[in-house]
Amino acid sequence: MSAPRLEIDLDKITHNARVLVEDLGERGIAVTGVTKAALGAVEVAKAMLRAGVSGLGDSRIENIEAMRHQRIAAPIMLIRSPMLSQAERVVKSADISFNTELSVVRRLSAAAQDADRVHGIVLMVELGDLREGILPVDLIGAAREVLRLPNLELTGIGVNLACHSGMAPDATNMAALSTLADEVEAALDVSLEIVSGGNSANLNWALGKGKIGRINHLRLGEAILLGCEPLHRTPVDGLHTDAITLVAEVIESKTKPSLPWGTLAETAFGGDVTSTDTGDMSRAILALGEQDMDPAGLVPPDGLAILGASGDHLLIDCGKRRLQVGTEVRFAVNYSALIRAMTSPFVDKAMARGRTARPSLNLA
Ligand SMILES: *Cc1c(COP(=O)(O)O)cnc(C)c1O
Repeated sequence: MSAPRLEIDLDKITHNARVLVEDLGERGIAVTGVTKAALGAVEVAKAMLRAGVSGLGDSRIENIEAMRHQRIAAPIMLIRSPMLSQAERVVKSADISFNTELSVVRRLSAAAQDADRVHGIVLMVELGDLREGILPVDLIGAAREVLRLPNLELTGIGVNLACHSGMAPDATNMAALSTLADEVEAALDVSLEIVSGGNSANLNWALGKGKIGRINHLRLGEAILLGCEPLHRTPVDGLHTDAITLVAEVIESKTKPSLPWGTLAETAFGGDVTSTDTGDMSRAILALGEQDMDPAGLVPPDGLAILGASGDHLLIDCGKRRLQVGTEVRFAVNYSALIRAMTSPFVDKAMARGRTARPSLNLA
Protein backbone atom coordinates (compact mmCIF):
# COMPACT_ATOMS: atom_id res chain seq x y z
CA MET A 1 0.00 0.00 0.00
CA SER A 2 1.21 3.49 -0.66
CA ALA A 3 2.06 6.07 1.98
CA PRO A 4 1.02 8.43 3.30
CA ARG A 5 -2.50 7.05 3.55
CA LEU A 6 -5.64 7.40 5.59
CA GLU A 7 -6.93 4.00 6.60
CA ILE A 8 -10.67 4.13 6.97
CA ASP A 9 -12.41 1.22 8.65
CA LEU A 10 -15.93 1.40 7.28
CA ASP A 11 -17.33 -1.15 9.72
CA LYS A 12 -16.14 0.94 12.66
CA ILE A 13 -17.87 3.95 11.12
CA THR A 14 -21.06 1.93 10.78
CA HIS A 15 -20.74 0.78 14.39
CA ASN A 16 -20.29 4.35 15.63
CA ALA A 17 -23.22 5.61 13.61
CA ARG A 18 -25.43 2.73 14.74
CA VAL A 19 -24.72 3.32 18.44
CA LEU A 20 -25.57 7.00 18.04
CA VAL A 21 -28.69 6.32 15.95
CA GLU A 22 -29.95 3.90 18.61
CA ASP A 23 -29.07 5.95 21.69
CA LEU A 24 -30.46 9.16 20.23
CA GLY A 25 -33.45 7.33 18.81
CA GLU A 26 -34.47 6.49 22.36
CA ARG A 27 -34.53 10.21 23.03
CA GLY A 28 -36.64 10.88 19.93
CA ILE A 29 -33.75 12.35 17.95
CA ALA A 30 -32.98 11.38 14.34
CA VAL A 31 -29.43 11.52 13.01
CA THR A 32 -28.23 12.96 9.73
CA GLY A 33 -24.78 11.56 8.91
CA VAL A 34 -22.43 14.38 7.90
CA THR A 35 -20.02 13.39 5.14
CA LYS A 36 -18.09 16.63 4.57
CA ALA A 37 -14.96 15.54 6.44
CA ALA A 38 -14.85 12.54 4.11
CA LEU A 39 -15.37 14.77 1.04
CA GLY A 40 -18.64 13.00 0.42
CA ALA A 41 -16.90 9.65 -0.16
CA VAL A 42 -19.60 7.26 -1.25
CA GLU A 43 -18.17 4.37 0.82
CA VAL A 44 -18.43 6.50 3.97
CA ALA A 45 -21.92 7.63 3.02
CA LYS A 46 -22.99 4.00 2.61
CA ALA A 47 -21.34 3.02 5.90
CA MET A 48 -23.49 5.65 7.62
CA LEU A 49 -26.64 4.62 5.77
CA ARG A 50 -26.13 0.97 6.77
CA ALA A 51 -26.34 2.18 10.37
CA GLY A 52 -29.79 3.66 9.86
CA VAL A 53 -29.11 7.38 9.70
CA SER A 54 -32.19 9.22 8.46
CA GLY A 55 -30.24 10.92 5.70
CA LEU A 56 -26.93 12.54 4.80
CA GLY A 57 -25.64 16.07 5.17
CA ASP A 58 -22.73 17.85 3.54
CA SER A 59 -21.55 21.45 3.42
CA ARG A 60 -20.37 21.35 -0.20
CA ILE A 61 -22.61 20.95 -3.20
CA GLU A 62 -19.70 19.29 -5.06
CA ASN A 63 -19.70 16.45 -2.52
CA ILE A 64 -23.47 16.08 -2.74
CA GLU A 65 -23.31 15.95 -6.54
CA ALA A 66 -20.60 13.29 -6.34
CA MET A 67 -22.78 11.17 -4.06
CA ARG A 68 -25.76 11.56 -6.41
CA HIS A 69 -23.58 10.55 -9.37
CA GLN A 70 -22.77 7.40 -7.46
CA ARG A 71 -26.43 6.64 -6.98
CA ILE A 72 -26.90 7.60 -3.36
CA ALA A 73 -30.68 7.99 -3.26
CA ALA A 74 -31.07 8.83 0.45
CA PRO A 75 -32.28 12.30 1.47
CA ILE A 76 -29.36 14.75 1.46
CA MET A 77 -29.25 18.16 3.07
CA LEU A 78 -26.83 20.96 2.26
CA ILE A 79 -25.82 22.12 5.74
CA ARG A 80 -24.07 25.34 4.71
CA SER A 81 -26.08 28.27 3.37
CA PRO A 82 -26.14 27.88 -0.42
CA MET A 83 -24.20 30.36 -2.52
CA LEU A 84 -26.53 32.50 -4.58
CA SER A 85 -24.55 31.40 -7.63
CA GLN A 86 -25.19 27.72 -6.89
CA ALA A 87 -28.96 27.78 -6.34
CA GLU A 88 -29.73 25.69 -9.44
CA ARG A 89 -27.22 23.01 -8.46
CA VAL A 90 -28.52 22.96 -4.89
CA VAL A 91 -32.11 22.42 -5.96
CA LYS A 92 -31.07 19.70 -8.36
CA SER A 93 -29.01 17.56 -5.97
CA ALA A 94 -30.01 18.41 -2.41
CA ASP A 95 -33.49 17.79 -0.98
CA ILE A 96 -33.10 20.34 1.78
CA SER A 97 -30.75 23.24 2.47
CA PHE A 98 -29.96 25.30 5.56
CA ASN A 99 -30.65 28.98 5.01
CA THR A 100 -30.26 32.36 6.65
CA GLU A 101 -30.69 34.82 3.75
CA LEU A 102 -33.99 35.58 2.04
CA SER A 103 -32.26 36.57 -1.20
CA VAL A 104 -30.93 33.02 -1.41
CA VAL A 105 -34.28 31.51 -0.45
CA ARG A 106 -35.96 33.47 -3.25
CA ARG A 107 -33.40 32.22 -5.75
CA LEU A 108 -33.93 28.65 -4.54
CA SER A 109 -37.65 29.08 -5.06
CA ALA A 110 -37.12 30.28 -8.63
CA ALA A 111 -34.69 27.44 -9.35
CA ALA A 112 -37.09 24.90 -7.86
CA GLN A 113 -39.88 26.23 -10.09
CA ASP A 114 -37.63 25.93 -13.16
CA ALA A 115 -36.67 22.39 -12.20
CA ASP A 116 -40.23 21.50 -11.27
CA ARG A 117 -39.14 20.34 -7.84
CA VAL A 118 -39.99 21.11 -4.23
CA HIS A 119 -37.00 22.13 -2.11
CA GLY A 120 -36.98 21.96 1.68
CA ILE A 121 -35.78 24.92 3.72
CA VAL A 122 -34.40 24.71 7.23
CA LEU A 123 -34.00 28.19 8.69
CA MET A 124 -30.95 28.46 10.91
CA VAL A 125 -31.29 30.59 14.02
CA GLU A 126 -28.54 32.56 15.78
CA LEU A 127 -28.41 31.55 19.45
CA GLY A 128 -25.06 32.94 20.50
CA ASP A 129 -22.23 31.18 18.67
CA LEU A 130 -22.17 34.00 16.09
CA ARG A 131 -21.67 31.86 13.04
CA GLU A 132 -24.67 31.38 10.74
CA GLY A 133 -28.20 32.21 11.82
CA ILE A 134 -31.19 34.50 11.59
CA LEU A 135 -31.67 36.56 14.74
CA PRO A 136 -34.60 35.16 16.75
CA VAL A 137 -36.61 38.37 16.33
CA ASP A 138 -36.49 37.96 12.56
CA LEU A 139 -37.35 34.27 12.47
CA ILE A 140 -41.14 34.41 12.09
CA GLY A 141 -40.88 36.98 9.30
CA ALA A 142 -38.39 34.82 7.43
CA ALA A 143 -40.51 31.71 7.91
CA ARG A 144 -43.56 33.57 6.59
CA GLU A 145 -41.61 34.49 3.46
CA VAL A 146 -40.57 30.85 2.90
CA LEU A 147 -44.20 29.76 3.15
CA ARG A 148 -45.23 32.41 0.65
CA LEU A 149 -42.72 31.33 -2.02
CA PRO A 150 -43.62 28.67 -4.59
CA ASN A 151 -41.94 25.26 -4.71
CA LEU A 152 -40.45 25.58 -1.22
CA GLU A 153 -41.34 23.71 1.91
CA LEU A 154 -40.56 25.03 5.39
CA THR A 155 -39.01 21.81 6.68
CA GLY A 156 -37.89 23.18 9.99
CA ILE A 157 -35.54 25.32 12.01
CA GLY A 158 -32.09 24.62 13.35
CA VAL A 159 -29.12 25.98 15.21
CA ASN A 160 -25.38 25.49 15.07
CA LEU A 161 -23.30 25.97 18.20
CA ALA A 162 -19.73 25.34 19.35
CA CYS A 163 -18.20 26.19 15.99
CA HIS A 164 -17.09 29.81 15.90
CA SER A 165 -17.23 30.97 19.51
CA GLY A 166 -17.31 27.59 21.22
CA MET A 167 -20.74 28.26 22.75
CA ALA A 168 -21.84 24.93 24.19
CA PRO A 169 -25.30 23.50 23.61
CA ASP A 170 -27.05 23.53 26.99
CA ALA A 171 -30.48 23.41 28.58
CA THR A 172 -30.97 27.15 28.04
CA ASN A 173 -30.20 27.48 24.33
CA MET A 174 -31.88 24.17 23.49
CA ALA A 175 -35.02 25.29 25.34
CA ALA A 176 -34.84 28.57 23.42
CA LEU A 177 -34.85 26.65 20.13
CA SER A 178 -37.84 24.59 21.26
CA THR A 179 -39.72 27.75 22.18
CA LEU A 180 -38.94 29.28 18.80
CA ALA A 181 -40.31 26.15 17.10
CA ASP A 182 -43.55 26.51 19.07
CA GLU A 183 -43.77 30.22 18.25
CA VAL A 184 -43.26 29.73 14.51
CA GLU A 185 -45.91 27.01 14.45
CA ALA A 186 -48.38 29.07 16.42
CA ALA A 187 -47.84 32.29 14.47
CA LEU A 188 -48.03 30.71 11.02
CA ASP A 189 -50.24 27.68 11.62
CA VAL A 190 -47.70 25.20 10.30
CA SER A 191 -45.98 22.18 11.72
CA LEU A 192 -42.22 21.89 11.57
CA GLU A 193 -40.89 18.46 10.71
CA ILE A 194 -37.33 19.12 11.82
CA VAL A 195 -36.05 20.98 14.85
CA SER A 196 -32.32 20.47 14.44
CA GLY A 197 -30.38 21.04 17.64
CA GLY A 198 -26.85 20.95 16.28
CA ASN A 199 -23.76 18.83 15.66
CA SER A 200 -21.51 16.41 17.56
CA ALA A 201 -21.03 19.07 20.23
CA ASN A 202 -24.66 18.46 21.24
CA LEU A 203 -24.07 14.87 22.32
CA ASN A 204 -23.35 15.55 25.99
CA TRP A 205 -26.59 17.48 26.16
CA ALA A 206 -28.64 15.07 24.04
CA LEU A 207 -27.46 11.92 25.83
CA GLY A 208 -27.69 13.56 29.25
CA LYS A 209 -30.65 13.68 31.55
CA GLY A 210 -32.07 17.05 30.55
CA LYS A 211 -35.32 17.74 28.78
CA ILE A 212 -35.13 17.26 25.03
CA GLY A 213 -38.13 19.49 24.30
CA ARG A 214 -38.84 19.89 20.61
CA ILE A 215 -35.36 18.91 19.40
CA ASN A 216 -35.76 15.89 17.12
CA HIS A 217 -32.70 16.01 14.89
CA LEU A 218 -28.90 16.27 15.03
CA ARG A 219 -26.28 16.41 12.28
CA LEU A 220 -23.30 14.26 13.24
CA GLY A 221 -19.93 14.04 11.53
CA GLU A 222 -17.03 14.06 13.96
CA ALA A 223 -18.63 11.74 16.51
CA ILE A 224 -19.34 9.12 13.85
CA LEU A 225 -15.95 9.34 12.16
CA LEU A 226 -13.65 9.91 15.12
CA GLY A 227 -15.71 8.68 18.08
CA CYS A 228 -15.20 11.96 19.96
CA GLU A 229 -17.37 14.86 20.98
CA PRO A 230 -15.74 18.15 20.02
CA LEU A 231 -16.42 20.23 23.16
CA HIS A 232 -13.76 18.56 25.26
CA ARG A 233 -12.47 16.10 22.65
CA THR A 234 -13.40 13.20 24.88
CA PRO A 235 -14.28 9.78 23.46
CA VAL A 236 -17.98 8.98 23.40
CA ASP A 237 -18.86 5.80 25.34
CA GLY A 238 -19.09 2.75 23.13
CA LEU A 239 -17.59 4.35 20.02
CA HIS A 240 -14.39 3.49 18.19
CA THR A 241 -11.86 6.32 18.17
CA ASP A 242 -9.61 4.57 15.66
CA ALA A 243 -11.96 4.18 12.70
CA ILE A 244 -9.64 6.51 10.79
CA THR A 245 -5.85 6.55 11.15
CA LEU A 246 -3.05 8.16 9.18
CA VAL A 247 -0.01 6.13 8.17
CA ALA A 248 3.28 7.68 7.05
CA GLU A 249 6.68 6.30 6.10
CA VAL A 250 10.14 6.99 7.52
CA ILE A 251 12.52 8.50 4.95
CA GLU A 252 15.41 9.41 7.27
CA SER A 253 16.52 7.97 10.59
CA LYS A 254 19.60 9.31 12.37
CA THR A 255 21.12 10.19 15.66
CA LYS A 256 21.55 13.96 15.73
CA PRO A 257 22.07 16.65 18.35
CA SER A 258 18.96 17.99 20.05
CA LEU A 259 20.01 21.59 19.44
CA PRO A 260 20.35 23.25 16.02
CA TRP A 261 23.47 25.25 15.25
CA GLY A 262 24.26 28.28 13.11
CA THR A 263 22.57 31.68 12.86
CA LEU A 264 18.91 31.58 13.91
CA ALA A 265 16.20 33.13 11.71
CA GLU A 266 12.53 32.38 10.98
CA THR A 267 11.40 28.78 10.52
CA ALA A 268 9.46 27.67 7.47
CA PHE A 269 6.13 27.58 9.31
CA GLY A 270 6.85 29.97 12.15
CA GLY A 271 7.21 27.37 14.91
CA ASP A 272 9.72 27.56 17.74
CA VAL A 273 12.75 25.31 17.76
CA THR A 274 13.68 23.40 20.87
CA SER A 275 16.02 25.25 23.15
CA THR A 276 16.97 22.58 25.66
CA ASP A 277 20.08 20.56 25.04
CA THR A 278 19.43 16.92 25.81
CA GLY A 279 22.44 15.68 23.92
CA ASP A 280 22.24 13.34 20.96
CA MET A 281 18.84 11.89 20.14
CA SER A 282 17.24 9.38 17.81
CA ARG A 283 15.34 11.35 15.17
CA ALA A 284 13.28 10.27 12.20
CA ILE A 285 11.74 12.11 9.29
CA LEU A 286 8.44 10.94 7.83
CA ALA A 287 7.25 11.80 4.33
CA LEU A 288 4.28 13.81 5.55
CA GLY A 289 3.93 17.58 5.90
CA GLU A 290 1.78 20.64 6.24
CA GLN A 291 0.68 20.13 2.66
CA ASP A 292 -0.87 16.80 3.68
CA MET A 293 -2.39 17.41 7.10
CA ASP A 294 -2.39 19.53 10.27
CA PRO A 295 0.56 18.34 12.36
CA ALA A 296 -1.04 19.74 15.53
CA GLY A 297 -3.85 17.25 15.03
CA LEU A 298 -1.76 14.07 15.05
CA VAL A 299 -1.40 11.72 18.00
CA PRO A 300 1.76 9.59 17.65
CA PRO A 301 2.16 6.08 19.04
CA ASP A 302 3.51 5.72 22.59
CA GLY A 303 7.21 6.44 22.83
CA LEU A 304 7.33 8.80 19.87
CA ALA A 305 6.91 12.57 19.93
CA ILE A 306 6.39 15.09 17.17
CA LEU A 307 9.15 17.69 17.01
CA GLY A 308 7.66 19.74 14.20
CA ALA A 309 6.68 19.78 10.58
CA SER A 310 7.39 21.70 7.40
CA GLY A 311 5.66 21.51 4.05
CA ASP A 312 6.74 17.96 3.30
CA HIS A 313 8.53 16.63 6.40
CA LEU A 314 7.35 15.48 9.80
CA LEU A 315 10.13 15.33 12.42
CA ILE A 316 9.89 12.71 15.12
CA ASP A 317 11.72 12.25 18.40
CA CYS A 318 12.05 8.48 18.52
CA GLY A 319 12.90 8.35 22.22
CA LYS A 320 14.59 5.07 22.99
CA ARG A 321 13.76 3.65 19.59
CA ARG A 322 15.40 3.78 16.25
CA LEU A 323 13.01 3.66 13.31
CA GLN A 324 14.42 2.12 10.17
CA VAL A 325 13.94 3.83 6.84
CA GLY A 326 10.79 2.39 5.30
CA THR A 327 9.04 1.85 8.64
CA GLU A 328 5.39 2.85 8.70
CA VAL A 329 4.11 4.87 11.65
CA ARG A 330 0.41 5.11 12.43
CA PHE A 331 -1.20 8.21 13.97
CA ALA A 332 -4.58 8.99 15.40
CA VAL A 333 -6.05 12.15 13.84
CA ASN A 334 -8.25 14.94 15.09
CA TYR A 335 -10.84 16.66 12.94
CA SER A 336 -8.45 19.26 11.59
CA ALA A 337 -5.79 16.71 10.59
CA LEU A 338 -8.52 14.54 9.08
CA ILE A 339 -10.03 17.16 6.80
CA ARG A 340 -6.65 18.28 5.54
CA ALA A 341 -5.46 14.73 4.92
CA MET A 342 -8.73 13.90 3.18
CA THR A 343 -8.31 16.93 0.96
CA SER A 344 -4.65 16.33 0.08
CA PRO A 345 -4.15 14.56 -3.26
CA PHE A 346 -0.88 13.15 -1.87
CA VAL A 347 -2.63 11.14 0.84
CA ASP A 348 -4.05 7.83 -0.35
CA LYS A 349 -7.45 6.86 1.03
CA ALA A 350 -7.64 3.18 1.89
CA MET A 351 -11.22 2.33 2.76
CA ALA A 352 -12.19 -1.20 3.70
CA ARG A 353 -14.78 -3.18 5.56
CA GLY A 354 -13.84 -5.75 8.17
CA ARG A 355 -10.27 -4.60 8.58
CA THR A 356 -8.53 -6.32 11.48
CA ALA A 357 -6.62 -4.30 14.03
CA ARG A 358 -2.98 -3.79 13.20
CA PRO A 359 -0.07 -2.84 15.43
CA SER A 360 0.23 0.91 15.73
CA LEU A 361 3.86 0.85 14.69
CA ASN A 362 5.50 -1.73 12.46
CA LEU A 363 8.98 -1.78 13.92
CA ALA A 364 11.43 -3.48 11.61
C1 LIG B 1 -19.98 20.45 10.06
C2 LIG B 1 -21.35 20.70 10.48
C3 LIG B 1 -22.03 19.73 11.23
C4 LIG B 1 -21.36 18.46 11.70
O1 LIG B 1 -20.46 18.78 12.72
P1 LIG B 1 -19.67 17.65 13.53
O2 LIG B 1 -19.03 18.39 14.64
O3 LIG B 1 -18.71 17.06 12.57
O4 LIG B 1 -20.67 16.68 14.01
C5 LIG B 1 -23.35 19.97 11.55
N1 LIG B 1 -23.96 21.11 11.18
C6 LIG B 1 -23.35 22.07 10.47
C7 LIG B 1 -24.10 23.30 10.11
C8 LIG B 1 -22.01 21.90 10.11
O5 LIG B 1 -21.40 22.87 9.42
